[in-house]
Amino acid sequence: MSSSSQTQLFERAKQTVPGGVHSPVRGFKGLVSTPRFIARAEGAHLWDVEDKSYIDFCMSFGPLILGHRDPEVEDTLHSAIKRGWSYGASEPYSLELAEFLLERLPFVDQIRFVNSGTEAVMTALRLARGATGRNKILKFNGCYHGHVDAMLIKAGSGLAGQAEASSAGVPKGVSDDTLVLDLNDREGLKECFTREGDQIAAIIIEPLPANNGLLIQDLEFLKLCRELTSKSGALLIFDEVISGFRVAFGGMVEKTGIKPDIVTYGKIIGGGLPVGALAASKELMGHLAPLGPVYQAGTLSANPLAMAGGLATLKKIAQADFYQTLDRQTEALVQLLERWTQEFDGGRFSFLRWIRMGSLFWPVRADHDPKSLNELPASLSEDFTPFFEEFLKRGVYLAPNAYEVGFASLAHTNEVLAELEQRLFT
Ligand SMILES: *Cc1c(COP(=O)(O)O)cnc(C)c1O
Repeated sequence: MSSSSQTQLFERAKQTVPGGVHSPVRGFKGLVSTPRFIARAEGAHLWDVEDKSYIDFCMSFGPLILGHRDPEVEDTLHSAIKRGWSYGASEPYSLELAEFLLERLPFVDQIRFVNSGTEAVMTALRLARGATGRNKILKFNGCYHGHVDAMLIKAGSGLAGQAEASSAGVPKGVSDDTLVLDLNDREGLKECFTREGDQIAAIIIEPLPANNGLLIQDLEFLKLCRELTSKSGALLIFDEVISGFRVAFGGMVEKTGIKPDIVTYGKIIGGGLPVGALAASKELMGHLAPLGPVYQAGTLSANPLAMAGGLATLKKIAQADFYQTLDRQTEALVQLLERWTQEFDGGRFSFLRWIRMGSLFWPVRADHDPKSLNELPASLSEDFTPFFEEFLKRGVYLAPNAYEVGFASLAHTNEVLAELEQRLFT
């Protein structure tokens, strides 16, 4: 198949599916190329339907921290599938995963598995409201929490502090109950709690915001979130759908030592199969059905195949030295990328530098150090397009959007880096 036939596949997909894709970022909107149709993957590589290979730095937007088709995960899935792939009943596989996780996440007592990060957030918000008897949720511009109504809210263009929906179809009543502030706005946060702290059920934050570039927060800001919620009887929700198991096994809770009331997980927890989870104290989790009045359910929740895939992945990353190895590999990777942006085509991209946190990395204008959405360079997408296209042409696949971070995996070995150097520099 030729590349033009991938364009044809995309045209066909647009006939049956809105925009030709099942999740918007996959649509290559604003880019020159049209979506690659991926036929298969292994390790750090993807192959499209015309058999062109790419070194993958999207890694399914984060879940594949071991790379594609890690042999141990693959073997586990093969044996799991022979036992059946959905029972809608109690089974030992989710029990094993829950016990494995809780042993290693000492800041929570109980966990419930759902099917996606969005679902985990949706349930966490309902739990916070149900447990506190309050309605308002405070979120931050620039954090992404999935596509639940209450989170598709941005700062309003009108009066300060007023929020509005960032998507059509979100009722005004929902945006009225969501408060929005800028990340790193300590004064705004204090004022907000002075004004209406007694109505706030929870703050929800990505403790490492990684959905609008990599907006690394000051520890002080996260501490203030903890302080103000504790004082006012609100809960603190850490949305660790990206950062959980990514920056450390215990995510940003482990990294910062700040203990939130509820943690949401997704992505890595399923190792590439659809899993999300929320975890909290036994007391809080007791509000959930069937024990308590906060309803939550799922036909495919704790799907045994997904539980097995998740456990096989997490067992591997819980091993000693895993994060040191990943860190070392990513540092070498970022140094290589840094050299490329400085040298390529007479320094054509030398206005960029790379921000890294663990195995997450992201290019931004060298004169910017953004901690909030409004500090992003206005030219972000414009800067990204030629750069993305150059990579794609050379067989290097980045997530097709300027706001998405890069994900490295265990499969991005020295050998792969040598291949990357070849592809980028020749
Ligand atoms: C990806 C993500 C979500 C949504 O998870 P889905 O599985 O895509 O529904 C929520 N929160 C954060 C921080 C995420 O990165």
